Amino acid sequence: TRFHDLDLPDELMHGIADLGFEYCSPIQAQALPFTLDGQDVVGKAQTGTGKTAAFLLGIIDDLLCNPLEEERYAGEARALILAPTRELVLQIAEDAKLLCKYTGLQVHTLVGGMDYQKQQDKVAARLVDILVATPGRLLDFVSNDVVHLDQVEVLVIDEADRMLDMGFIPQVKRIVRATPAKSHRQTLFFSATFTYDVLMLAEQWTDKAVTVEI
Ligand code: AMP
Repeated sequence: TRFHDLDLPDELMHGIADLGFEYCSPIQAQALPFTLDGQDVVGKAQTGTGKTAAFLLGIIDDLLCNPLEEERYAGEARALILAPTRELVLQIAEDAKLLCKYTGLQVHTLVGGMDYQKQQDKVAARLVDILVATPGRLLDFVSNDVVHLDQVEVLVIDEADRMLDMGFIPQVKRIVRATPAKSHRQTLFFSATFTYDVLMLAEQWTDKAVTVEI
């Protein structure tokens, strides 16, 4: 599949062209018809397969095609991407910023180990479309009422198996509970491995999900 054949908004196509992407990777070819259609997806894919763009394109397309009618407030995210490590968060955010370059959408990151007050001042002062975060730091901001997740339209859980291994599931559960019910949000769930525990989480957090695997 070529990206040109996917009927994506022009401003998003410009970003894709800048990145030099022409053909969808296998995970993108499998997942994009569903992510672009607003369906929940459970994806089994390793890093290096292009899974990041598979969920980012779904998010960006959704945000561009459904402009908000109501006024938005600082700290109110429309899409939330959770990833287990700071490196992964920064990598995802970098790709998101490149893809959003011509869209006017704002990408913001929250990660542990960085100055708390500075991060709080920044997120509280800006409109956020796509928030990329590690669970611990995000939960702090949600608990303190700095970040609001009740307007989240798309939720991505990336590398769910590593979230489990690193003991983040209690935090992730509390974050997921702060987003709209699963019937009112789109959830994209990715993991490289599918143990019983990972499957249980996918089952809990997604609604009529399509499973894609490469
Ligand atoms: P990921 O698995 O998301 O970490 O992506 C792995 C690498 O592949 C990243 O450097 C992406 O920029 C690149 N990539 C993703 N999708 C495509 C594509 N369709 N064509 C060419 N490169 C891609």
